[in-house]
Amino acid sequence: MLRAPPFNSELEDFRHTVREFIRVNLPDHIRQQVAAEKMDLPREDQVCWHRILRDNGGWCCPAWPKEHGGPGWSDEQQYVFEQELALGNAPRLMIYGVGMLGPTLFEYGSEQQRERILPDILNADTFWCQGFSEPGSGSDLASLNCRMTPDGDEYIVNGSKIWTSEAHLADWIFGLFRSSVEARKQQGITFLLIDLASPGVTVRPLKIFEDTHEVNQVFFDQVRVPKENVVGRLGEGWEIGKYLLSLERFGTAEVSRTKATMQRLTELAFAEIPGGTRLIDHVDFAERFCRAERALHALEMTERRILLGDQRAESIGTGASMLKIRGTEIQSDVFRLTAEASAHFAHIDIPRSQAGCHSDSPYQPGDAARNYFNYRKTPIYSGSNEIQRNIIAKLELDLRS
Ligand SMILES: Cc1cc2nc3c(=O)[nH]c(=O)nc-3n(C[C@H](O)[C@H](O)[C@H](O)COP(=O)(O)OP(=O)(O)OC[C@H]3O[C@@H](n4cnc5c(N)ncnc54)[C@H](O)[C@@H]3O)c2cc1C
Repeated sequence: MLRAPPFNSELEDFRHTVREFIRVNLPDHIRQQVAAEKMDLPREDQVCWHRILRDNGGWCCPAWPKEHGGPGWSDEQQYVFEQELALGNAPRLMIYGVGMLGPTLFEYGSEQQRERILPDILNADTFWCQGFSEPGSGSDLASLNCRMTPDGDEYIVNGSKIWTSEAHLADWIFGLFRSSVEARKQQGITFLLIDLASPGVTVRPLKIFEDTHEVNQVFFDQVRVPKENVVGRLGEGWEIGKYLLSLERFGTAEVSRTKATMQRLTELAFAEIPGGTRLIDHVDFAERFCRAERALHALEMTERRILLGDQRAESIGTGASMLKIRGTEIQSDVFRLTAEASAHFAHIDIPRSQAGCHSDSPYQPGDAARNYFNYRKTPIYSGSNEIQRNIIAKLELDLRS
């Protein structure tokens, strides 16, 4: 596989330490599930790995400062750490609590909120989910209509949120709610935290077609929420929501996760198929394989330039959009090739062990097709790729729609 140039020796030592830690400490049954790219890792496995990282100097919260239990790492260290997690088949970090809400509370939360909420995230006692999208308000998020109406020391919330990932595993939801209809629509939005155990909350699963349970619709019927659960000021939710979405930047392109899939594809491409040839010997396959590999390598270099380069602050806005578009396109190409390649090993007489080309490989032919279909979601969520193109057109080309 094409390799990016190494970082300086200090960072490469750090990489070695992280790699060794994962190799020794990641429980095998969790590694196997991640290597097979299973979508619905059980909560107890997520908690187990999170706490192993927590006990090692707060590694579970790589972007958190030391005073809140994180390791206090530089951007470069965080980047290397995320790479090693992916390549070592370790689970993704808990994006909603650790990656989104925590840093949002550092920036906009009150001292009392930080004291109350952050320790439970650090200890994996509380799982969070994100309630932004609503039926009819996805790309046009500012049109959202789930209402919060003041009533004494509380708000009463009515409406629903949709496509809420992991709500069925979560204890709390953070989200954007309509607090005023008089102001400009962006100004009437407030960032609110809601306990999903509150009376009037219903979480209903939305099954997707390859039969995994990832997303839900969450209904709020006269749900009473203490006023102390507003983050920032009333009507400041749009600003806070934009800040929170920008925190996804390290993960948007999923370069390292795609590299891990590329490694599995490489094994399939160079293994012998029935008839005695290898897929890589077939010109059509080899061309597409090499194109995907080159594109992924180019994206990795671009990602480094945008996230870690000297001008990162200026390039992060449109850079994140560009990374998301290219990252999800290349990811889809690699999954499609992997599904295609796996089909050659799905013959009934081929031992399961050979299908992954390693006797202990958990990756089976059916996984590849399921993953290809499941990952049709990535160009849609976190702001669809069309919306990312609009952002680039607006910010870089000064084109207004
Ligand atoms: C698997 C999955 C998980 C998700 N998890 C969450 C979650 O945890 N929390 C959450 O809040 N949301 C979540 N979402 C919702 C996601 O953010 C929205 O689906 C997304 O923003 C698109 O909104 P929509 O589905 O309403 O589509 P629409 O906004 O109706 O868009 C439909 C199509 O029209 C295109 N389009 C719309 N407007 C424009 C425009 N102005 N210019 C060009 N093209 C346009 C879109 O790109 C899309 O192709 C998730 C979605 C998926 C698929």
